Amino acid sequence: DANTTLPPLRLLIAAPRGFCAGVDRAIRIVELAIQKFGAPVYVRHEIVHNRFVVDSLKAQGAVFVEELDEVPDGVPVVFSAHGVPKAVPHKAEERGLDYVDATCPLVSKVHRQAERLVDDGRHILFIGHKGHPEVIGTFGQVPDGRMTLVETVADAEAVQPADPDNLAFLTQTTLSVDDTAATIAVLQRRFPSIQAPRGEDICYATSNRQAAVKAIAVQCDAMLVIGAPNSSNSLRLVEVAERGGVKAALIQRADDIDFAWLDDVRTLGITAGASAPEVLVREVVDRLATRFTVDESEVTTASENMVFKLPRSLAAA
Ligand code: SF4
Repeated sequence: DANTTLPPLRLLIAAPRGFCAGVDRAIRIVELAIQKFGAPVYVRHEIVHNRFVVDSLKAQGAVFVEELDEVPDGVPVVFSAHGVPKAVPHKAEERGLDYVDATCPLVSKVHRQAERLVDDGRHILFIGHKGHPEVIGTFGQVPDGRMTLVETVADAEAVQPADPDNLAFLTQTTLSVDDTAATIAVLQRRFPSIQAPRGEDICYATSNRQAAVKAIAVQCDAMLVIGAPNSSNSLRLVEVAERGGVKAALIQRADDIDFAWLDDVRTLGITAGASAPEVLVREVVDRLATRFTVDESEVTTASENMVFKLPRSLAAA
């Protein structure tokens, strides 16, 4: 009804948000692999943690499986952006499969550090979330028993390494910047000689998205984070918003918006995790515009221009 006046809703849209260079590259790798080899191309694990992305690649001829033994002989396979244990490419080679590794170069950097530290005889305390594919992949770079998982500050207080003078720590790329700093502080207090990684393991995209949410949260009544429930960096954005003093909800798509939840909200922050495409942000804004007179502005706290090279086998495709 054209005569109905919709209530006002101010939108503050975080920038940077959404796709990072590693996600962009991983999706491109699947598309190029389909062009090069023809469909079907198998992908071990969700290429990135987003259902919309996975469904669009399925429509182009990608087939998603969890384990390599679900890939039939003679078809190409792509490994996801989160990285894989060394045993996976080894097994693919044994089977003579064409494989393309879409592991984010920033995850591979952590893998190489892990190998080097273990070669130097160090034991690694790895800060990360149990069961996340990136953590499984990084543990799979070194022999069993050379790396111990530390999930929380409490774990950092409790861990009893066999050789406390010969330690190093590394972290998952998509952790909470603040929680990780607290965990590292405990490790450094308890083990003063522990070796730190060269540079941060938490990636630029993770820290930029968290900083943007922090900056916006102080001006908002609520925050919507567009992302998947298994996306580590998206879950961290919800936590950062909540700690900034606003209620926050993770939604996968515009359909998940709960309008009752928005009842007393005048200013709404919006961001998207590193695996969520921009089209989903637009869809959310469009749906909000069916119930509110939206006044949309973008709040930019950093600019990003990271681009990662494609694997040589596909760069020419
Ligand atoms: Fe790479 Fe960071 Fe993106 Fe993960 S979130 S794919 S580590 S750039």
